[in-house]
Amino acid sequence: MNNGSGRTAVIVGGASGIGWASAQALARQDCHVTIADLNADGAAERAAELGPGHSAAAVDVTDEDSVQRLFDGVGPLDIAVNCAGFSNVGLITEMPAADFRAVIDVCLNGAFIVTKHAGRHLRPGGSLVQISSLNGRQPAAGMSAYCAAKAGLSMLTQVAALEMGPRGIRVNAVAPGFVHTPLTAAAASVPGVVEDYVDNTALGRAGTPEDIAEAVVYLCSPGSSWLTGEVLDINGGAHLKRYPDVMGHVMRLMEPST
Ligand code: NAP
Repeated sequence: MNNGSGRTAVIVGGASGIGWASAQALARQDCHVTIADLNADGAAERAAELGPGHSAAAVDVTDEDSVQRLFDGVGPLDIAVNCAGFSNVGLITEMPAADFRAVIDVCLNGAFIVTKHAGRHLRPGGSLVQISSLNGRQPAAGMSAYCAAKAGLSMLTQVAALEMGPRGIRVNAVAPGFVHTPLTAAAASVPGVVEDYVDNTALGRAGTPEDIAEAVVYLCSPGSSWLTGEVLDINGGAHLKRYPDVMGHVMRLMEPST
């Protein structure tokens, strides 16, 4: 089935992980994809891999001028997917405020800036997809900034859906659980983290970028044309149980052996 022949799509944070899988999945739907990323070289390599009809751009979601340049340069568009994000780990009582702000700046303020400028260029029938997180609803000790940012992003998604709906633009979010990507490689290398996550799922495995990309394609397709303001949990059923004790596993790793 071809869900998007000839449509124009911008994938912010598209050079890696979930964004790259989404870019490939949308390209398979015959979309013309622009991969935009902080990692400009990575974006250019990925766009070349997709082939003719696709392009790359450098962007930093924390810099409004750069986001405006991106969307003004692309012009009218049908699909925008915002995958830029990162986390840090630290207890609230120990965390420098600058570390908290840095995560909020990318994951929430950056998402606002992308929503603002993508929203100005999306055509009627267009679709904006944010990548929120299981941590938008499930708290994790040591991840205060990320959890707060993603909870805010889930609500930003709903407000944007209300504001843009009358123009025929749909705004939704995907909230992944633990997905193996470069972002989670360090956490996955801590003994017990992935096992703890998997133990607390219904389906018994961690996710792949492709699991999330399939949902992104659906949210951008005509098949979801009556769906907006939704935050779609894709996590193997982890929202039914509890988040892994990431901080506990890190602390145990750092304990001196007796
Ligand atoms: P990833 O592999 O690290 O990809 C994220 C991409 O975003 C990277 O190419 C990164 O560039 C780029 N980026 C970071 N800061 C940016 C900025 N300021 N402006 C523009 N681009 C920026 O991570 P991922 O796992 O695919 O994560 C994608 C999204 O899914 C994130 O929002 C993340 O919070 C969310 N998510 C991930 C998981 C998971 O388990 N992986 C779970 C829930 C939600 P650099 O490499 O140069 O930093």
